Amino acid sequence: MKRILITGGAGFLGSHLCDRFIKEGYHVIAMDNLITGDIDNIQHLMPHENFEFYHHDVTKFVHVSGQLDYILHFASPASPIDYLKIPIQTLKVGAMGTHNLLGLAKDKGARILIASTSEIYGDPLVHPQSEEYYGNVNTIGPRGVYDEAKRYMESITMAYHRFHGVETRIVRIFNTYGPRMRLNDGRVIPAFIGQALRGEDLTVFGDGAQTRSFCFIDDQVEGIYRLLLSDYTMPVNIGNPHEITIRDFAEEIIKLTGTDQKVIYKPLPKDDPQQRQPNITKAKEILGWEPKVSRSEGMKKTYDYFRNLPTEKLFKKEHRDFSSRNKK
Ligand code: NAD
Ligand code: UDP
Repeated sequence: MKRILITGGAGFLGSHLCDRFIKEGYHVIAMDNLITGDIDNIQHLMPHENFEFYHHDVTKFVHVSGQLDYILHFASPASPIDYLKIPIQTLKVGAMGTHNLLGLAKDKGARILIASTSEIYGDPLVHPQSEEYYGNVNTIGPRGVYDEAKRYMESITMAYHRFHGVETRIVRIFNTYGPRMRLNDGRVIPAFIGQALRGEDLTVFGDGAQTRSFCFIDDQVEGIYRLLLSDYTMPVNIGNPHEITIRDFAEEIIKLTGTDQKVIYKPLPKDDPQQRQPNITKAKEILGWEPKVSRSEGMKKTYDYFRNLPTEKLFKKEHRDFSSRNKK
Protein backbone atom coordinates (compact mmCIF):
# COMPACT_ATOMS: atom_id res chain seq x y z
CA MET A 1 0.00 0.00 0.00
CA LYS A 2 1.33 3.48 -0.95
CA ARG A 3 1.82 5.88 1.97
CA ILE A 4 1.24 9.62 1.54
CA LEU A 5 1.88 12.54 3.92
CA ILE A 6 -0.47 15.52 3.47
CA THR A 7 0.57 18.66 5.34
CA GLY A 8 -2.21 21.13 6.03
CA GLY A 9 -4.42 18.04 6.03
CA ALA A 10 -7.04 19.61 8.35
CA GLY A 11 -7.45 22.63 6.08
CA PHE A 12 -9.85 23.18 3.22
CA LEU A 13 -7.80 21.79 0.34
CA GLY A 14 -5.81 19.34 2.47
CA SER A 15 -8.90 17.63 3.89
CA HIS A 16 -10.38 17.09 0.42
CA LEU A 17 -7.04 15.63 -0.70
CA CYS A 18 -7.11 13.28 2.32
CA ASP A 19 -10.56 12.09 1.20
CA ARG A 20 -9.35 11.53 -2.35
CA PHE A 21 -6.25 9.54 -1.44
CA ILE A 22 -8.17 7.40 1.07
CA LYS A 23 -10.64 6.69 -1.74
CA GLU A 24 -7.75 5.72 -4.03
CA GLY A 25 -6.57 3.14 -1.47
CA TYR A 26 -3.57 4.97 0.01
CA HIS A 27 -2.44 5.08 3.62
CA VAL A 28 -2.85 8.77 4.48
CA ILE A 29 -0.99 10.69 7.19
CA ALA A 30 -2.46 14.16 7.69
CA MET A 31 -0.17 16.62 9.47
CA ASP A 32 -1.45 19.96 10.76
CA ASN A 33 -0.94 22.39 13.63
CA LEU A 34 -4.56 23.61 13.25
CA ILE A 35 -3.54 27.27 13.09
CA THR A 36 -6.06 28.03 10.35
CA GLY A 37 -7.53 24.54 9.83
CA ASP A 38 -10.31 22.70 11.63
CA ILE A 39 -10.20 19.16 12.98
CA ASP A 40 -13.91 18.86 12.03
CA ASN A 41 -12.76 18.73 8.38
CA ILE A 42 -11.18 15.30 8.94
CA GLN A 43 -13.15 13.96 11.90
CA HIS A 44 -15.00 11.54 9.58
CA LEU A 45 -11.66 9.97 8.54
CA MET A 46 -10.40 9.30 12.08
CA PRO A 47 -11.96 5.83 12.41
CA HIS A 48 -10.50 4.76 9.06
CA GLU A 49 -7.71 2.19 9.48
CA ASN A 50 -5.64 3.80 6.70
CA PHE A 51 -5.79 7.29 8.16
CA GLU A 52 -3.59 8.92 10.81
CA PHE A 53 -3.46 12.47 12.13
CA TYR A 54 -0.26 14.06 13.45
CA HIS A 55 -0.72 17.35 15.30
CA HIS A 56 2.56 19.00 14.35
CA ASP A 57 4.01 22.31 13.19
CA VAL A 58 6.01 21.60 10.01
CA THR A 59 8.38 24.50 10.66
CA LYS A 60 9.84 22.18 13.33
CA PHE A 61 11.76 19.03 12.32
CA VAL A 62 9.33 16.60 10.67
CA HIS A 63 9.61 12.93 11.52
CA VAL A 64 7.54 10.16 9.94
CA SER A 65 8.54 6.58 10.58
CA GLY A 66 8.48 3.89 7.91
CA GLN A 67 8.06 4.05 4.18
CA LEU A 68 6.76 7.21 2.53
CA ASP A 69 5.96 7.32 -1.19
CA TYR A 70 4.45 10.77 -1.61
CA ILE A 71 4.28 14.11 0.18
CA LEU A 72 1.75 16.84 -0.55
CA HIS A 73 2.88 20.05 1.14
CA PHE A 74 -0.26 22.16 1.64
CA ALA A 75 0.39 23.65 5.08
CA SER A 76 0.22 27.45 4.94
CA PRO A 77 -2.22 30.19 5.86
CA ALA A 78 -3.98 30.93 2.59
CA SER A 79 -6.36 33.83 3.06
CA PRO A 80 -5.07 37.43 2.96
CA ILE A 81 -6.72 38.12 6.35
CA ASP A 82 -4.99 35.09 7.90
CA TYR A 83 -1.54 35.77 6.53
CA LEU A 84 -1.68 39.42 7.45
CA LYS A 85 -2.35 38.37 11.05
CA ILE A 86 0.42 35.74 11.12
CA PRO A 87 3.04 37.08 8.72
CA ILE A 88 6.07 35.45 10.34
CA GLN A 89 4.39 32.05 10.56
CA THR A 90 3.44 32.39 6.90
CA LEU A 91 7.03 33.08 5.88
CA LYS A 92 8.28 30.25 8.10
CA VAL A 93 5.92 27.59 6.79
CA GLY A 94 6.76 28.48 3.18
CA ALA A 95 10.50 28.58 3.85
CA MET A 96 11.47 26.37 6.81
CA GLY A 97 8.43 24.09 6.48
CA THR A 98 9.19 23.45 2.80
CA HIS A 99 12.88 22.88 3.58
CA ASN A 100 11.95 20.27 6.23
CA LEU A 101 9.59 18.47 3.86
CA LEU A 102 12.08 18.43 1.00
CA GLY A 103 14.62 16.95 3.41
CA LEU A 104 12.09 14.31 4.39
CA ALA A 105 11.35 13.57 0.71
CA LYS A 106 15.08 13.16 0.01
CA ASP A 107 15.53 10.89 3.01
CA LYS A 108 12.55 8.68 2.13
CA GLY A 109 12.96 8.74 -1.64
CA ALA A 110 9.43 10.15 -1.79
CA ARG A 111 7.93 12.30 -4.54
CA ILE A 112 6.83 15.71 -3.23
CA LEU A 113 4.23 18.08 -4.63
CA ILE A 114 4.15 21.60 -3.23
CA ALA A 115 1.15 23.95 -3.21
CA SER A 116 2.18 27.18 -4.89
CA THR A 117 -0.24 29.85 -5.93
CA SER A 118 -1.35 32.39 -8.53
CA GLU A 119 -0.06 34.95 -6.01
CA ILE A 120 3.45 34.32 -7.29
CA TYR A 121 2.31 36.35 -10.34
CA GLY A 122 1.50 39.23 -7.95
CA ASP A 123 -0.64 41.98 -9.50
CA PRO A 124 -0.05 40.60 -12.98
CA LEU A 125 0.82 42.76 -15.96
CA VAL A 126 0.20 39.85 -18.33
CA HIS A 127 -3.28 38.44 -18.83
CA PRO A 128 -4.21 35.60 -18.61
CA GLN A 129 -1.27 34.28 -16.60
CA SER A 130 0.77 31.46 -18.10
CA GLU A 131 3.54 29.58 -16.31
CA GLU A 132 6.18 31.50 -18.30
CA TYR A 133 5.21 34.83 -16.68
CA TYR A 134 7.60 35.82 -13.86
CA GLY A 135 5.16 38.04 -12.01
CA ASN A 136 4.87 41.52 -10.54
CA VAL A 137 5.26 41.16 -6.78
CA ASN A 138 5.82 43.85 -4.15
CA THR A 139 8.37 42.16 -1.89
CA ILE A 140 7.80 44.57 1.01
CA GLY A 141 4.03 45.01 0.73
CA PRO A 142 1.59 43.29 3.10
CA ARG A 143 1.02 40.38 0.71
CA GLY A 144 4.77 39.94 0.26
CA VAL A 145 4.95 37.57 3.25
CA TYR A 146 2.79 35.07 1.39
CA ASP A 147 3.87 35.75 -2.19
CA GLU A 148 7.59 35.68 -1.48
CA ALA A 149 7.30 32.62 0.78
CA LYS A 150 5.64 30.81 -2.11
CA ARG A 151 8.26 32.02 -4.59
CA TYR A 152 11.03 30.83 -2.28
CA MET A 153 9.14 27.56 -1.94
CA GLU A 154 9.26 27.07 -5.71
CA SER A 155 12.99 27.97 -5.82
CA ILE A 156 14.08 25.60 -3.07
CA THR A 157 11.91 22.86 -4.59
CA MET A 158 13.64 23.24 -7.97
CA ALA A 159 17.02 23.31 -6.19
CA TYR A 160 16.28 20.00 -4.42
CA HIS A 161 15.15 18.59 -7.74
CA ARG A 162 18.23 19.73 -9.67
CA PHE A 163 20.86 19.28 -6.98
CA HIS A 164 19.58 16.25 -5.04
CA GLY A 165 17.47 14.62 -7.75
CA VAL A 166 14.33 14.69 -5.58
CA GLU A 167 11.16 14.00 -7.56
CA THR A 168 9.23 17.24 -7.31
CA ARG A 169 5.95 18.68 -8.61
CA ILE A 170 4.72 22.29 -8.35
CA VAL A 171 1.06 23.23 -8.65
CA ARG A 172 0.12 26.91 -8.99
CA ILE A 173 -3.35 27.00 -7.54
CA PHE A 174 -5.78 29.74 -8.59
CA ASN A 175 -8.69 30.77 -6.31
CA THR A 176 -10.40 27.56 -5.28
CA TYR A 177 -13.64 27.26 -3.31
CA GLY A 178 -16.09 24.76 -1.91
CA PRO A 179 -17.36 23.10 1.25
CA ARG A 180 -15.05 23.27 4.32
CA MET A 181 -13.70 26.74 3.66
CA ARG A 182 -13.61 28.49 7.01
CA LEU A 183 -16.61 30.79 7.25
CA ASN A 184 -14.64 33.67 8.73
CA ASP A 185 -11.31 33.36 6.97
CA GLY A 186 -12.05 36.58 5.07
CA ARG A 187 -11.87 35.09 1.58
CA VAL A 188 -14.50 36.48 -0.71
CA ILE A 189 -16.75 33.42 -1.10
CA PRO A 190 -17.24 32.55 2.59
CA ALA A 191 -17.36 36.31 3.33
CA PHE A 192 -20.22 36.97 0.87
CA ILE A 193 -22.17 33.80 1.70
CA GLY A 194 -21.79 34.40 5.45
CA GLN A 195 -22.98 37.97 5.05
CA ALA A 196 -25.99 36.89 2.98
CA LEU A 197 -26.95 34.20 5.50
CA ARG A 198 -26.68 36.60 8.43
CA GLY A 199 -28.69 39.27 6.61
CA GLU A 200 -25.75 41.67 6.37
CA ASP A 201 -24.76 43.83 3.42
CA LEU A 202 -22.12 42.38 1.09
CA THR A 203 -18.76 44.14 1.39
CA VAL A 204 -17.09 44.70 -1.99
CA PHE A 205 -13.56 46.03 -1.69
CA GLY A 206 -12.60 48.91 -3.98
CA ASP A 207 -14.98 49.51 -6.88
CA GLY A 208 -15.31 45.75 -7.45
CA ALA A 209 -13.84 45.97 -10.97
CA GLN A 210 -11.03 43.59 -9.99
CA THR A 211 -11.46 40.07 -11.35
CA ARG A 212 -10.97 36.55 -10.09
CA SER A 213 -11.57 33.12 -11.70
CA PHE A 214 -13.01 30.58 -9.26
CA CYS A 215 -12.30 26.84 -9.41
CA PHE A 216 -14.49 24.28 -7.63
CA ILE A 217 -12.67 22.02 -5.17
CA ASP A 218 -13.45 18.73 -6.98
CA ASP A 219 -11.82 20.04 -10.16
CA GLN A 220 -8.80 21.30 -8.22
CA VAL A 221 -8.30 17.95 -6.46
CA GLU A 222 -8.48 16.11 -9.79
CA GLY A 223 -5.83 18.43 -11.28
CA ILE A 224 -3.50 17.96 -8.29
CA TYR A 225 -3.99 14.20 -8.38
CA ARG A 226 -3.09 14.03 -12.07
CA LEU A 227 -0.06 16.30 -11.63
CA LEU A 228 1.30 14.24 -8.76
CA LEU A 229 1.14 11.06 -10.84
CA SER A 230 2.52 12.73 -13.99
CA ASP A 231 6.17 12.95 -15.05
CA TYR A 232 6.14 16.74 -15.31
CA THR A 233 8.47 18.65 -12.98
CA MET A 234 7.85 22.28 -13.97
CA PRO A 235 5.04 24.39 -12.45
CA VAL A 236 1.48 23.86 -13.70
CA ASN A 237 -1.45 26.28 -13.27
CA ILE A 238 -4.60 24.62 -11.99
CA GLY A 239 -7.67 26.84 -11.94
CA ASN A 240 -10.86 27.71 -13.76
CA PRO A 241 -10.38 30.34 -16.50
CA HIS A 242 -13.96 31.61 -16.22
CA GLU A 243 -13.33 35.16 -14.99
CA ILE A 244 -15.73 37.54 -13.24
CA THR A 245 -15.52 40.94 -11.58
CA ILE A 246 -16.04 40.96 -7.81
CA ARG A 247 -18.93 43.40 -8.25
CA ASP A 248 -20.77 41.03 -10.61
CA PHE A 249 -19.93 38.14 -8.34
CA ALA A 250 -21.61 39.90 -5.39
CA GLU A 251 -24.76 40.21 -7.51
CA GLU A 252 -24.57 36.50 -8.35
CA ILE A 253 -24.43 35.66 -4.64
CA ILE A 254 -27.45 37.84 -3.92
CA LYS A 255 -29.39 35.95 -6.62
CA LEU A 256 -28.15 32.56 -5.42
CA THR A 257 -29.08 33.16 -1.79
CA GLY A 258 -32.40 34.81 -2.67
CA THR A 259 -31.74 37.59 -0.19
CA ASP A 260 -32.27 41.31 -0.72
CA GLN A 261 -28.95 42.48 0.67
CA LYS A 262 -27.27 45.58 -0.63
CA VAL A 263 -23.69 45.79 -1.83
CA ILE A 264 -21.55 48.23 0.14
CA TYR A 265 -18.09 49.39 -0.84
CA LYS A 266 -15.01 49.30 1.42
CA PRO A 267 -11.42 50.37 0.70
CA LEU A 268 -9.39 48.10 -1.57
CA PRO A 269 -6.61 46.34 0.40
CA LYS A 270 -3.07 47.27 -0.67
CA ASP A 271 -1.67 45.34 -3.64
CA ASP A 272 -4.97 43.52 -4.24
CA PRO A 273 -4.46 42.06 -7.74
CA GLN A 274 -6.60 43.81 -10.35
CA GLN A 275 -7.06 40.80 -12.61
CA ARG A 276 -6.49 37.09 -12.40
CA GLN A 277 -7.20 34.32 -14.86
CA PRO A 278 -5.18 31.15 -15.38
CA ASN A 279 -3.89 30.08 -18.75
CA ILE A 280 -4.44 26.32 -18.44
CA THR A 281 -2.96 25.19 -21.75
CA LYS A 282 -0.24 23.21 -19.96
CA ALA A 283 -2.70 21.43 -17.67
CA LYS A 284 -4.82 20.51 -20.72
CA GLU A 285 -1.89 19.27 -22.80
CA ILE A 286 0.19 17.55 -20.12
CA LEU A 287 -2.47 16.28 -17.72
CA GLY A 288 -5.51 16.09 -20.01
CA TRP A 289 -7.21 18.19 -17.34
CA GLU A 290 -9.72 20.97 -17.49
CA PRO A 291 -12.40 22.08 -15.03
CA LYS A 292 -15.77 20.37 -15.34
CA VAL A 293 -17.88 22.12 -12.68
CA SER A 294 -19.55 25.39 -13.66
CA ARG A 295 -19.60 28.25 -11.18
CA SER A 296 -23.37 28.00 -10.76
CA GLU A 297 -23.15 24.28 -9.90
CA GLY A 298 -20.13 24.69 -7.60
CA MET A 299 -21.59 27.72 -5.84
CA LYS A 300 -24.87 25.90 -5.23
CA LYS A 301 -23.01 23.04 -3.50
CA THR A 302 -20.94 25.53 -1.52
CA TYR A 303 -23.99 27.52 -0.45
CA ASP A 304 -25.73 24.29 0.63
CA TYR A 305 -22.73 23.48 2.82
CA PHE A 306 -22.66 26.89 4.50
CA ARG A 307 -26.39 27.15 5.08
CA ASN A 308 -26.42 23.75 6.78
CA LEU A 309 -23.71 24.76 9.26
CA PRO A 310 -24.87 24.90 12.88
CA THR A 311 -26.28 28.36 13.65
CA GLU A 312 -23.65 29.00 16.31
CA LYS A 313 -20.90 28.58 13.69
CA LEU A 314 -22.69 30.96 11.36
CA PHE A 315 -23.17 33.71 13.90
CA LYS A 316 -19.97 33.26 15.88
CA LYS A 317 -17.75 36.13 14.86
CA GLU A 318 -14.61 34.08 14.91
CA HIS A 319 -11.50 36.13 15.31
CA ARG A 320 -8.80 33.54 15.74
CA ASP A 321 -6.41 34.58 18.43
CA PHE A 322 -3.03 34.14 16.78
CA SER A 323 -1.13 36.09 19.45
CA SER A 324 0.56 33.12 21.11
CA ARG A 325 1.62 31.78 17.66
CA ASN A 326 3.24 35.05 16.69
CA LYS A 327 5.62 34.77 19.63
CA LYS A 328 6.94 31.39 18.51
P1 NAD B 1 -6.41 26.41 4.89
O1 NAD B 1 -6.05 27.54 5.81
O2 NAD B 1 -7.80 25.88 4.96
O3 NAD B 1 -5.41 25.19 5.07
C1 NAD B 1 -4.08 25.35 5.44
C2 NAD B 1 -3.78 24.33 6.53
O4 NAD B 1 -2.39 24.40 6.87
C3 NAD B 1 -4.55 24.60 7.83
O5 NAD B 1 -5.19 23.41 8.26
C4 NAD B 1 -3.47 25.07 8.81
O6 NAD B 1 -3.80 24.77 10.14
C5 NAD B 1 -2.26 24.31 8.29
N1 NAD B 1 -0.97 24.91 8.67
C6 NAD B 1 -0.58 26.20 8.52
N2 NAD B 1 0.66 26.38 9.00
C7 NAD B 1 1.08 25.15 9.45
C8 NAD B 1 2.29 24.68 10.04
N3 NAD B 1 3.32 25.50 10.28
N4 NAD B 1 2.37 23.36 10.36
C9 NAD B 1 1.35 22.50 10.12
N5 NAD B 1 0.17 22.91 9.56
C10 NAD B 1 0.05 24.22 9.24
O7 NAD B 1 -6.09 26.92 3.40
P2 NAD B 1 -6.33 26.19 2.00
O8 NAD B 1 -7.14 27.07 1.15
O9 NAD B 1 -6.76 24.79 2.20
O10 NAD B 1 -4.85 26.22 1.39
C11 NAD B 1 -4.03 25.06 1.39
C12 NAD B 1 -2.79 25.30 0.56
O11 NAD B 1 -3.15 25.62 -0.80
C13 NAD B 1 -1.92 26.46 1.05
O12 NAD B 1 -0.57 26.13 0.89
C14 NAD B 1 -2.29 27.59 0.13
O13 NAD B 1 -1.23 28.53 -0.02
C15 NAD B 1 -2.56 26.85 -1.17
N6 NAD B 1 -3.45 27.62 -2.04
C16 NAD B 1 -4.79 27.64 -1.82
C17 NAD B 1 -5.60 28.39 -2.66
C18 NAD B 1 -7.10 28.44 -2.50
O14 NAD B 1 -7.76 29.11 -3.29
N7 NAD B 1 -7.72 27.75 -1.57
C19 NAD B 1 -5.04 29.13 -3.71
C20 NAD B 1 -3.66 29.09 -3.88
C21 NAD B 1 -2.87 28.31 -3.06
N1 UDP C 1 -13.09 40.84 -1.50
C1 UDP C 1 -14.19 41.68 -1.37
N2 UDP C 1 -14.93 41.60 -0.22
C2 UDP C 1 -14.66 40.73 0.80
C3 UDP C 1 -13.54 39.87 0.64
C4 UDP C 1 -12.77 39.96 -0.52
O1 UDP C 1 -14.49 42.50 -2.26
O2 UDP C 1 -15.38 40.72 1.80
C5 UDP C 1 -12.29 40.91 -2.73
C6 UDP C 1 -10.78 41.08 -2.51
O3 UDP C 1 -10.43 42.45 -2.36
C7 UDP C 1 -10.22 40.48 -3.78
C8 UDP C 1 -11.23 39.37 -4.14
O4 UDP C 1 -12.41 39.68 -3.41
O5 UDP C 1 -10.20 41.42 -4.81
C9 UDP C 1 -10.76 37.97 -3.75
O6 UDP C 1 -10.33 38.01 -2.42
P1 UDP C 1 -9.87 36.72 -1.60
O7 UDP C 1 -9.46 37.20 -0.25
O8 UDP C 1 -10.92 35.69 -1.67
O9 UDP C 1 -8.63 36.14 -2.39
P2 UDP C 1 -7.37 36.75 -3.17
O10 UDP C 1 -7.57 36.29 -4.55
O11 UDP C 1 -7.34 38.25 -3.08
O12 UDP C 1 -6.20 36.12 -2.50
